[in-house]
Amino acid sequence: TADLLEVEDLYTQFRFDDGVVRAVDGVSFSVPAGKTVCVVGESGCGKSITARSILQLIDRPGRITGGRIWWRSAAAISSAERSKRPRRSRKSTDADEQATDDSGVDLVALDPAGDHLREIRGGEIAMIFQEPMASLSPMYTIGNQLIEVIRLHTPVSKAAATDRALDLLAQVGIPRPKHTMDAYSFQLSGGMCQRVMIAIALSCNPKLLIADEPTTALDVTTQARILDLLRDLQQDSDMAMMFITHDLGVVAEIADEVVVMYLGTVVEQGPVDEVFEHPQHPYTRALLASIPRMGAGARQRLSAIQGQVPHPFNYPQGCPFHPRCPEAVEGVCDRVDPPTVWLGERRRSRCVLNDPEFLAETEPANEVS
Ligand code: SF4
Ligand code: MG
Repeated sequence: TADLLEVEDLYTQFRFDDGVVRAVDGVSFSVPAGKTVCVVGESGCGKSITARSILQLIDRPGRITGGRIWWRSAAAISSAERSKRPRRSRKSTDADEQATDDSGVDLVALDPAGDHLREIRGGEIAMIFQEPMASLSPMYTIGNQLIEVIRLHTPVSKAAATDRALDLLAQVGIPRPKHTMDAYSFQLSGGMCQRVMIAIALSCNPKLLIADEPTTALDVTTQARILDLLRDLQQDSDMAMMFITHDLGVVAEIADEVVVMYLGTVVEQGPVDEVFEHPQHPYTRALLASIPRMGAGARQRLSAIQGQVPHPFNYPQGCPFHPRCPEAVEGVCDRVDPPTVWLGERRRSRCVLNDPEFLAETEPANEVS
C-alpha cells in the first residue's frame, strides 16, 4: 500500500547573486502511516528545508524547483475525488485540481494561497519547531491561543473549545492546565512552552506531526521528558511522525525508520535497527562512530567526522561526501554521481560500494605493465 507521505526527487534551491545553494538536491523518502521516521544529519544538510518544503514554507530567495510530495491521507484522497465533481464550498483553483489524482494530492503543486493547502497545514499535517517560545505570541494568554487554533479548524463554541484546550494541556503533561490557560508564554519555561506547542499541534488530530529539532533548545532532563511524551502520544494514536534531529541518541529512542542526509541528499534510509547495526553508507558509519556509547544515553553533537562540510556554493563534483569520505575510490567518487542502490524493500544506500558492478565499470582501467 502507498505511504502516507511520499517525497519524490525533491529539489529546493536558494538563488543568490553569488550562486545557487542546492539545499535539497533530489531527496526521496517516505513516511508510512502511524510510524516515526527520523531525518538525521549535521546542521546545514537540508533536513529543515526538506521539512518546510512539505508545507511550502520556503521563504525567498528559496524555491522548490522540482519533484513531488504525495500526501495520501484518506481526506486527501476523498478530496481528490471531490475535486473531479463540480465544486462546492471550497475555493478550489486550477492548480489545486491539477495537484490531485486518485491516490492523493501533490503538495508541491497546490496553490500556495489556496484553501486546500491551508486546510492541510495545521490540520492534517502539524509542525513544531526548535524554539517554542518564538512560536507563541507574548500578547495573548496560552488559553486564548489554543482556543483560537481549535476554533480555526473546528466550528465549536467557545465553551467547548475551552474544554478541549484544558484536555489537551492535561494530555501533554501540563500539571495545572487551568492555571496555564491564563499564563503568557514568557511566564513559562521552555519545556512548558514546547508542551503548549505540542498541544496546539495535536488540537486538530493531525495524521502527521513534523517535529524539527523540538528538544534541541531544552535542557537534557526536559529533552528526555518531551521525547517520552511525543513517543507516548504517537504510540497511542495512529499519528505518523517525521522527526528531524542531529542527535543519534534521539533516533535510537523513537525511530521506526531513519533517513540519513548529507549536503541536501539522502545517503541512506532504512529500518532503524538495520541501519544502526549494519550501516551501508560510509557517512552513516562515520556518524555512528562519532558516538562513543550508543544506547547508553550518550548525547553528542555530530562533530567528530573528519573534514568540513563544503561551502554551499562549492558543491563537490561526483559523490557529495567524497572530500571527507575515508572509503572514497580514486578516479570514481570525485567524478561520478553514486547510484542509489535498493538493499531491501525499505532500505537503500547511495554509494558506489553498494554496487560492485557499477564500480567495476566505472573504475579507471589499471595501467598495463
Ligand atoms: Fe565514499 Fe565514494 Fe561511497 Fe561517496 S560514493 S560515500 S565517496 S565510497
Ligand atoms: Mg535545522
